[in-house]
Amino acid sequence: MKTSLTRKPSWLRRPLPQGPVFSRTAALLRDLRLNTVCAGAGCPNRMECYSRGVAAFLILGRVCTRNCAFCDIAHGRPEAVDPEEPGRLAKAAAALGLRHVVVTSVSRDDLPGGGAGHFAATLAALRRTLPLATRETLVPDFGGDPGSLATVLAAAPHVLNHNLETVPELYARIRPQAVYDRSLELLGRVKKSPDAPLAKSGLMLGLGETPAQIRRVLSDLANVGCDIVTMGQYLAPSSNHAPVARYAPPEEFAAWAEHGQALGIKHMHCAPLVRSSYNAALFVEEKNRGELF
Ligand code: SF4
Repeated sequence: MKTSLTRKPSWLRRPLPQGPVFSRTAALLRDLRLNTVCAGAGCPNRMECYSRGVAAFLILGRVCTRNCAFCDIAHGRPEAVDPEEPGRLAKAAAALGLRHVVVTSVSRDDLPGGGAGHFAATLAALRRTLPLATRETLVPDFGGDPGSLATVLAAAPHVLNHNLETVPELYARIRPQAVYDRSLELLGRVKKSPDAPLAKSGLMLGLGETPAQIRRVLSDLANVGCDIVTMGQYLAPSSNHAPVARYAPPEEFAAWAEHGQALGIKHMHCAPLVRSSYNAALFVEEKNRGELF
């Protein structure tokens, strides 16, 4: 049966919980002047995650120096870096009682090191304030600078995530300022680093990629030793963004999960509404219990 692209299929529709925890989470983030990718990127899971007191922090401002065709974050001239942000973020993470903290950023090609120092300062603040929580960073490609990646790795994240987002054939249209091989190389460098954290990456389906192209990306990720891969349905934030080429059904995501695991990727988290930080605590908890790796 052909699915109409103007109407979302049933598997992407669900009840939206909203209650006191949602409001408390939103108020805390507002009071501490913190940004989240949940709000900034218009994530479809925001109601659910905020209602569980979970959010993925977006550091280094709300304006990105790049202009990807899938992303809802504003682009243009970014704000000045706020040196107090790491402390406020750690305070919010503690107030929310997070056991696993996800920190991401806009791309800051204007800053020396691409803002890696601010990531490191944020990780350090989290270590001081919440020493028992695990830390996940979802980093930009830092223009391929190994020194920037080393700065983040030296601050000891438990998970280093860098999303490939889509297949290389679509980079020119979807991620015009990114380079597929550069992103892949970053993930490979993570696994070769001393005390390597878990390496994680993510892909969206529904941008026009073919099954053969997805197979190639999964095999590239397996070859660089990526531990965790997330796959979710691309949803166009507006008519100015890349259009949705198709809606992949849940069983297709399940098949990709099996395929990735068969290639040796230890954890495949694949479902239409999966986003790279969705239920991110789960994998680290499973790992700590020895159930995952
Ligand atoms: S899935 Fe991630 S980005 Fe989306 S609302 Fe949840 S924590 Fe935020």
